[in-house]
Amino acid sequence: MKRNEELKLSIFKRLIVSYLAITVLILCSGIYTVMNLGEINRIIRGANSVDAQVIRIAEEIAQSVIIQTGSERKYLISRDRAFYNNFSEMNPYIVRKITELEVISDTEEGKALAAEISALHERYRTLFEKAALSGSAVPKSYPAEKEKIISAIEKNCRLIAKGADAARSEKMKKSEEISYRISRTILFTESFAVVLVVLISFLITRSINSPIRLLREKTKLTARGEFGSPLAISSPPEIKELADSFNLMCERLRELDQMKVDFISHLSHELRTPLTAIKEASSMLTEGVFAGLPEKQAELFGIINEECERLISSVSRILELSRMEAGMADFAFEDADLVAIIRKTVAKLSPIADRKHIRLAYSPDGDIPCVSADPDKISQVIENLIGNALKFTPKEGEVSIRLERNGTANSVEVFVTDTGCGIPRESLEEIFEKFKRVDDRKGTVRGTGLGLSIAKYIINAHGGNIWAESEPGRGSTFIFSLPLSRSSLQSAVAPPSA
Ligand code: ADP
Repeated sequence: MKRNEELKLSIFKRLIVSYLAITVLILCSGIYTVMNLGEINRIIRGANSVDAQVIRIAEEIAQSVIIQTGSERKYLISRDRAFYNNFSEMNPYIVRKITELEVISDTEEGKALAAEISALHERYRTLFEKAALSGSAVPKSYPAEKEKIISAIEKNCRLIAKGADAARSEKMKKSEEISYRISRTILFTESFAVVLVVLISFLITRSINSPIRLLREKTKLTARGEFGSPLAISSPPEIKELADSFNLMCERLRELDQMKVDFISHLSHELRTPLTAIKEASSMLTEGVFAGLPEKQAELFGIINEECERLISSVSRILELSRMEAGMADFAFEDADLVAIIRKTVAKLSPIADRKHIRLAYSPDGDIPCVSADPDKISQVIENLIGNALKFTPKEGEVSIRLERNGTANSVEVFVTDTGCGIPRESLEEIFEKFKRVDDRKGTVRGTGLGLSIAKYIINAHGGNIWAESEPGRGSTFIFSLPLSRSSLQSAVAPPSA
């Protein structure tokens, strides 16, 4: 599955591959066209330079021979030397033309006919020379024999010209066929390329559009508070990443939404419980239910006071966290003595521990250097941690506080360990988020779910860390670290005085 995901191409790669394929297609069609045009060129050149010339030379030979027969006839009648010279002067020209024809002919048949013309013309010349030498009496057989030779020469010339003409037509036909093939191929490849471009554009647009449509629909649902199941978009990778981030955002929104619902129900419970107690106690006092019993009245006043304290504490926590988140919290850092701060807090919370029969143990480890801290804020953190430990530890349990110097990190670590209900592993980080409370399924333990987020905010603002370790059913340990003060650091590196 993962491998499948990896194989999916990004939009950029899809575009590159597609346009590369189209470019290769057009390039191949171009190469094919150029090669075929070369072939057409060669054919047309052949038709022009060979066939047209063969026709022209054959015609020239036929005409020259006719002119030569004219001179020959006149000479044999008049025996005028000028006509004999005319006849003889034409010989080299005709011989040259016949040789040219033999050389230029590109078919076996053409070459054979040219050779035959050459032989016939030679025979004609010899026949004429004999007749010229015979004085005034021309042999009787001469005219018929000469006529036979001349008509054979003319016939051969016609045959050669006809052959060349046929070859030229054949070549033209072939070149027409090739150009038709080229135009068909170009038409096909161009249409195919257009179809490919349209198809690729359609597929790529769809691969972008449909996930975007899903995202848009999901956004509308999320805006209405309907979170539903996560969006499953596998491709293209860029949009998958967007969908993953969107799913993460939805999940976070869903959690926040749930947290808000939980918080409102916790808060209304947190506020209603003390308010109901106050209302009940004050009604009883107003109605004079315990008119003659001052101890009972004092007890009711005590309840009213305690519940008012609880209300004030809840509201203060909410205000304090919003002040911190708005960056309005002030810290007065100084060289603080953690041992003294813890001792004071332990003393403050001892009565609660005693009431619950919980052993609250604190044994400071001899030499703990000063830290850089706001003592009020740190005592608030320690009070919250010990308060939680006492809250979640049953009767006869134990809460112990330990301090340790961390040499490598140049800090002091505070451990608050209890033997309470513990915290499930998956909630160890969540409990530091605001309004996050681990459901004890009985709803017996009250709280706003803000104490630990305030503690985390304070410790982080000191440059320290806070975290929890726990074994459900056996207890938890909350640990926080604070950096050593500058003076403690200096005395740690200074050489011992003599
Ligand atoms: P609250 O006001 O609800 O105690 P906190 O932020 O202090 O808010 O604590 C958040 C939640 O963490 C508590 O509701 C509880 O579920 C869990 N928790 C904190 N401390 C302890 C502890 N020592 N033992 C078990 N659970 C604890």
